[in-house]
Amino acid sequence: MIKNIFIVFFLFCFSLQATIQEQLAFSTFELEMDKIANTPGADTSEILEKMDALLKSSADATSAERALFLTYDCALRAGLASTLAEDRFKDLQELSAQYSSNASVRAATALCEANIATFRKDSASYQQSLFKAFKFTQQADLATLKYWVSLNVHSVFEKYSDHQNSEKALLLGLKVAEDNNDQFRLSTANQLLAETYLATKDYKKALKHNDAAQSAMDQTTDKWYQGEIYNNRARILTGLHQLDKAMAFYQRALEVTKQRNNHREVQFILLDIAYLYILQQNNAAAKSLINDVSQYGLEYDDLYLNNNALIIKSLLSLSQNNLSLSEQEFKQAAKYFVKNDFNEIIITAWGKQAAIANIYKQYQVSEEASKQYFTLLQKKLVRQSLAIQTLVVESYEKTRLDDAEIAKQQLEKATAQKDQLSKNSQMLFTSVVLLGALLFIILIKFAWRLSRKRKLNKEEINRQLYYDPLTQCFNRRYFDEIICQNLIEQSLANKVSYLVVMDIDHFKSFNDTYGHSAGDIVLKELVKNLQSDSRFNDSVVRMGGEEFLLTLPPNENLRVEVVIERILSLVSHSPVVIEDKPRNISISIGYVPIEKASNKADIDDLMNLADKALYVAKETGRNRAIGVGNLQCPANYIDKILIANENKLLTLKEVKPKGIGA
Ligand code: GH3
Ligand code: MG
Ligand code: MG
Repeated sequence: MIKNIFIVFFLFCFSLQATIQEQLAFSTFELEMDKIANTPGADTSEILEKMDALLKSSADATSAERALFLTYDCALRAGLASTLAEDRFKDLQELSAQYSSNASVRAATALCEANIATFRKDSASYQQSLFKAFKFTQQADLATLKYWVSLNVHSVFEKYSDHQNSEKALLLGLKVAEDNNDQFRLSTANQLLAETYLATKDYKKALKHNDAAQSAMDQTTDKWYQGEIYNNRARILTGLHQLDKAMAFYQRALEVTKQRNNHREVQFILLDIAYLYILQQNNAAAKSLINDVSQYGLEYDDLYLNNNALIIKSLLSLSQNNLSLSEQEFKQAAKYFVKNDFNEIIITAWGKQAAIANIYKQYQVSEEASKQYFTLLQKKLVRQSLAIQTLVVESYEKTRLDDAEIAKQQLEKATAQKDQLSKNSQMLFTSVVLLGALLFIILIKFAWRLSRKRKLNKEEINRQLYYDPLTQCFNRRYFDEIICQNLIEQSLANKVSYLVVMDIDHFKSFNDTYGHSAGDIVLKELVKNLQSDSRFNDSVVRMGGEEFLLTLPPNENLRVEVVIERILSLVSHSPVVIEDKPRNISISIGYVPIEKASNKADIDDLMNLADKALYVAKETGRNRAIGVGNLQCPANYIDKILIANENKLLTLKEVKPKGIGA
């Protein structure tokens, strides 16, 4: 009875190791869980809530401990509805895939599977899963799991009369109980061991463990299966032929079972007592008890109880030498048990019949009963051994399927991770490239800006150095340092450039009339006009005041008069707007070809000569140009240009803008 109750709940386990060296102490988490599990008066949902809180507050729980928690939760949920437990099972399967080499996690997962099977009443699946759990439990390191699985699997071994493995499983459970000095578990494990030894008729060991179960139970407060310990002891004592002592323990069992109002259980104890009376040859007492039980069975229409009573009754009939009645009663009961597949009871019944027949010297009956007993027992053992073999094979196959599923999941996960990883690395690569490109661009931009800044600085310095701030054309310094050098080079290369100097006509009076700033505008506009012709763009120089200069680069096709005429026209036909009115201005020009100039002094002489030509232009009416050509002496020899012209030292050419008279 105790076995069945424990299968449903959680406190069980198993190992094939006969001697267990390791210390199987509960971890803090296990103890916490145990405390919650054994909260007196708590209902399942209350326990589930507390368990949830425990898991949430145990962030540092190991994967094995988490698995244990989930299994426990799974068992509780399965108690409510198997569908509720399935969520937990899924969680455990995921955990198993993640920690496939962790035996505790695998054992816990299998245990949850077994629990779900129990509540679906799928006993084959339950046993297979339990065996699977047991297989992993042997390498598991959680004491709770070892205890839980071993006690559960013991019941399966017991079902198949595999007492040897049953014993080993229980010894492991006992070890856990001992290592933790857990009286409740000590009592349970010892009681189950006593039952196992009773089944193998090892009464000495059975007595020892019954004693241990009793003393552990004495230290616990909840004595809910005290009756079974007494009953167990009575049976052991019966086996040891200490019938009076046995009777005393049956009486105790009867008493505590009655106290617990377990009326049906009382009936079975009464039948045990009746059998003991028959063994003691106290048939009257036996008869009275059997009648009481039969009465109860009839009243509650309890066929199972009635037929058990009928077996004992047949033994009573046998003891009373009423063989045919005995046989009839036995057959009738046996028919019921065969029909309902209670083979175990029939075998035990044959055993009891053999014993009673022996006591009452019905040797033939005893012999026949023994024969039946051994034949059926043999058949049962063969059948069970086959069944357990099948079970083990199926359980291994289940494990193999689990492993395959886990491997598949791991592969999928690994592939997904790999994909993600390669995606990440691609992204990383792209990012690095982009970042690199960005840095490169920034660097280039920075360098460019820097060089530009430097260039600009340089340009600005140059500009400040060589430019006229008002008109933004070159200044005299630029002419002296740069243009002159260029002119000398051209001249040395026998290439003829022209030096053109110009002066605004009547600028003083313009200033006086319109104001100095209007005069400034005229200066700026003049430069703008001159620069609008790309040929002069690079060479307009403000020599000072309202005097300007430009150079015409060497050009074989250059018709210098045409160019000069255009300059004059350009200026005289580009009125400057002052006070919203267009004002005409004009310039006068003196120009010379640069020939035979080999140094700056030569250029200065030519400049001087051009100035003189300009002076002539002013003198002869302004808004015109005087060009010097065919110079017959060095430029510095010429003091008066007109005289020089008359002396044929040079020729003068006058140019006027079109449409304007002299
Ligand atoms: P001419 O036709 O003979 O050249 O007569 P002019 O008045 O242009 O010649 P003059 O040399 O008598 O006068 C030059 C004037 O130019 C004197 C001065 O006020 C003016 N001037 C020189 N530099 C600047 C300047 O930067 N801005 C302004 N507004 N006027 C200037
Ligand atoms: Mg002047
Ligand atoms: Mg002037």
